[in-house]
Amino acid sequence: MKAVGITSHGGSEVLELIDCPQPEIESNEVLVRIKACALNHLDIWIRRGLPGLKLKMPHILGADIAGTVEAVGSLVRNTKPGDEVLLSPSLSCMHCEYCLSGRDNLCAQYDMLGLRSPGGYAEMVKCPSVNVLPKPANLTFEEAASVPLVFLTAWHMLVGRVDLRPGEIVLVHAAGSGVGIAAIQIGKLLGARVIATASTKEKLDKAAQLGADDLINYSEHDFLDEIKRLTNKRGVDVVFEHTGEATWEKSVRSLVRGGRLVTCGATSGHNGNLDIRYLFSKQIALFGSYMGGKPELLEVLKHFESGRLKPVVDRVLPLEAAAEAQKALENRAQFGKVVLTP
Ligand SMILES: [Zn+2]
Repeated sequence: MKAVGITSHGGSEVLELIDCPQPEIESNEVLVRIKACALNHLDIWIRRGLPGLKLKMPHILGADIAGTVEAVGSLVRNTKPGDEVLLSPSLSCMHCEYCLSGRDNLCAQYDMLGLRSPGGYAEMVKCPSVNVLPKPANLTFEEAASVPLVFLTAWHMLVGRVDLRPGEIVLVHAAGSGVGIAAIQIGKLLGARVIATASTKEKLDKAAQLGADDLINYSEHDFLDEIKRLTNKRGVDVVFEHTGEATWEKSVRSLVRGGRLVTCGATSGHNGNLDIRYLFSKQIALFGSYMGGKPELLEVLKHFESGRLKPVVDRVLPLEAAAEAQKALENRAQFGKVVLTP
């Protein structure tokens, strides 16, 4: 089958069109013919190489996959050939205390499609049958592939970790990113007031269309000054962080007394200063968050079926254009998800 793989770590030039054998399924696994695979920043981190990450080369990237079932193993009962599906990206042991309590994202053996296991930059992928979920009928394959990783991540952050409440104010950084788009919509769904930041007026206009109540152009204004102005010096209840070093200190200072900061990433750098006096005297809470549990994804998908949450696809490119697609993400040229189709 055709795939885009890497045989070494590096820049986008290491992405190569390769011909590789079709995956062979075990009795509890499903073979899926891929119709769409959405990109994530995770793909770029893996391509560049992560500490301690040893991959079997050539490695196929891509966590967010939608397609049709091609074949099922002899023990599989929950799906059959021809079904239109999307895949939960999370792979885990399914028998430890975390997995059995729906917190598989804390499993010691946690993995994802495209992380250590082969992913979706290909014509076919295999996964355990537990990862196969029905595609919401009102979504195209491209839209369905745009959902799992970013909406699960943002849901776990705002619902699972900080329990965002109606009437609270949440600051969402980088509104044009995949998790930003998800966080704006989830914030509104939960009844919060959403303040969104982005670098251009065009992106802010789109954030407003998704429901953001207040907008900050961080290339023109200091976002901390704007938070003070917009909240009458009060500060926000929750900061949705994923940019890291560039925003960290001011994100902490944007919080109201007793506020919560939740972070799932550090795309701009991974060192953040923290004045410990500020942390204890303002009684601030800092939350780390990584993906989300399988039950949370099922909950998220219900809101897509009802139309309360909407995928945002920026562009669809052929699989062969994987390098161009990743560059768009690295240059922050997109508003929403970049999707590959084989
Ligand atoms: Zn486990």
